[in-house]
Amino acid sequence: MAQTALSALGEFGLIDRLTKAFTIENASTKLGIGDDCAIVSYADKSDIVITTDLLVEGIHFDLMYCPLKHLGYKAVMVNLSDIYAMNAKPKQITVSIAVSAKFSVEALDDLYSGIALACKNHSVDLIGGDTSSSITGMTISITAIGEVKKDKAVKRSGAKPNDLICISGDLGAAYMGLQILEREKHVFTQTGSQSPKLEGYDYVLEKQLKPEARKDIVERLAKYKVLPTAMIDVSDGLSSELLHICKCSNVGCKVYTDKIPVNEDTARVANEFSIDTLTAALSGGEDYELLFTVDIADFHKVSMIPDVRIIGNITQQSEGAQLITAQGEKIALIAQGWNGFTE
Ligand code: ADP
Ligand code: MG
Repeated sequence: MAQTALSALGEFGLIDRLTKAFTIENASTKLGIGDDCAIVSYADKSDIVITTDLLVEGIHFDLMYCPLKHLGYKAVMVNLSDIYAMNAKPKQITVSIAVSAKFSVEALDDLYSGIALACKNHSVDLIGGDTSSSITGMTISITAIGEVKKDKAVKRSGAKPNDLICISGDLGAAYMGLQILEREKHVFTQTGSQSPKLEGYDYVLEKQLKPEARKDIVERLAKYKVLPTAMIDVSDGLSSELLHICKCSNVGCKVYTDKIPVNEDTARVANEFSIDTLTAALSGGEDYELLFTVDIADFHKVSMIPDVRIIGNITQQSEGAQLITAQGEKIALIAQGWNGFTE
């Protein structure tokens, strides 16, 4: 397909082209793109939650193996995941981009098609942003706005001793997906081979390239009438997120290693790379699952929620953060986030 230089459209032509397909879905969006500001209006009985993420080429994403449509989708998902982690529903986003002349108009069309799909899947309105040129590469900053019933936002700080620790989905897959992509990139740069071996790795690749923020889990928590005492999304690995909850809540925790959910494909790939499966689950990042604590009185209700597992319990702070192995051995939980893991 012919590639059009960004300079051919000019800033306003480009903004028009990228945003014209977006429509407004939410009543709380009073004014979308096109003025100096967007206008949002929420009911008095709501609290509003706001979050921002900055993604920098070469630091947070590698365009050698991340297609731009996927990048657009993922950039929105990482923000929506933070909104869901507050027990809120995302309603609006703004998207700001800085791009160098190496990108074509068609490349940005791809990026925005991923953003549009993410907005559609999660009923979110794109209400503004900013556009700039850059000297090298691409930077994307997204801000998401969400709504939650007044005083029902779930913070990291509410966990208390005896609460149950719960996790959605399974862990470590996105990290193993990244290992596959890095391996094939290495093969390509060493040999020029244009045929990456990606067959049979669908599950882990999808978790890495097309993560899905857990809207469904927040909906199920409401349906089963479970209000978590604390919640966080798993972007940096389970250990690191658990330690955030412990620190913010002034508590300790006990997590049973044999209860930590790992998909069998993740375990198979970890084995192929001689990476300990538990290490991938604890320290691999970008799972975007929800980690939360619930009062012990909610045990029956939370046990019934599909795709949620209880992996341990909150303890007194003096007991520290501990992993308990299948043999009953106690290991101190240490923060080893995604970055520490790869360096
Ligand atoms: P201003 O000069 O007030 O910053 P702009 O000309 O940059 O306005 O933007 C015009 C409109 O387009 C505004 O509503 C702005 O929020 C929106 N906008 C600009 N860049 C983007 C973008 N990359 N994605 C989505 N909306 C954008
Ligand atoms: Mg502007």
